[in-house]
Amino acid sequence: MIAFCGNPLDRAGEKRGAADWLSAQRQHERTRVLPLWKLQPLILGPESDASGLGLIDGALASGLGAPDAVEVFLGLDGETAYFARDISSLAEPLSAALASLGHFRDARSAAAFLPPGEVAILGQAKALIDWHNRNGFCARCGSATAMADAGYRRVCSSCRCEHFPRTDPAVIMLVTAGDQCLLARNKRFAGGHYSTLAGFIEPGESIEEAVRREVFEEVGIQIGDVAYFASQPWPFPASLMIGCFGSAKTREIAVDGEEIVVAHWFDRETVKKLLAGKSDEIGLPRRDAIAHHLIRAWAEKDG
Ligand SMILES: [Zn+2]
Repeated sequence: MIAFCGNPLDRAGEKRGAADWLSAQRQHERTRVLPLWKLQPLILGPESDASGLGLIDGALASGLGAPDAVEVFLGLDGETAYFARDISSLAEPLSAALASLGHFRDARSAAAFLPPGEVAILGQAKALIDWHNRNGFCARCGSATAMADAGYRRVCSSCRCEHFPRTDPAVIMLVTAGDQCLLARNKRFAGGHYSTLAGFIEPGESIEEAVRREVFEEVGIQIGDVAYFASQPWPFPASLMIGCFGSAKTREIAVDGEEIVVAHWFDRETVKKLLAGKSDEIGLPRRDAIAHHLIRAWAEKDG
């Protein structure tokens, strides 16, 4: 399973817009709420022995943070409704009610140890809360907006314009040529860390066109066929990573020096050794990144 995929909740899109239904769900004793403080989820247990995502009792969550704190509906697991609540207004989130329950930590590090379903729920909650934090005012007229549809819409108080949660598509691609693939070092990476290339899709561009443009811009290689692999929600803050393989038509590398500082062709046997961690000099992406899965899928393919 690719991290942040596989959300087990039924988003109940046909029901959540009804205020009466939503209110009844929120007040039910079964209901669970995930508090987020400055986009960090509550994690149960101490830092040294974390045990799971902090999905707490709905009544307990109601007392946390501002009375009008942003609260979004995540979905249903059977009869149980799940919500997320932004408690960022608290100066010290672990005072009082939550002190004995757990701790807050950043979403990326939590994603490294939580079970896959909880990682996906966390990604949904973080992306939605972050979107509300950034969209308190109408992009068209500047007036205040208000939440609607259980958190999946905001409506302008003046011009009535509707705003919907954003997902920003980005391509992430492994460039291949026969028995070799291209891995590159971004200037933001720590020394020795190599990965695939990536970039945002621009308006008016298809996935294939974005792959070809980004690869040419970053390493000067022309791409022919583009094959879709898989995608990954990446809530940092709101990307959808679209994983592809790009078949190189040329081999000569010319790095842009802006984003990419070094790029090399690696043969399959070398990549297998790198994936097995048999190098002190070169590191590959962590398992929670789709880049890891792209590289592994290519390395383990026959021929
Ligand atoms: Zn407006």
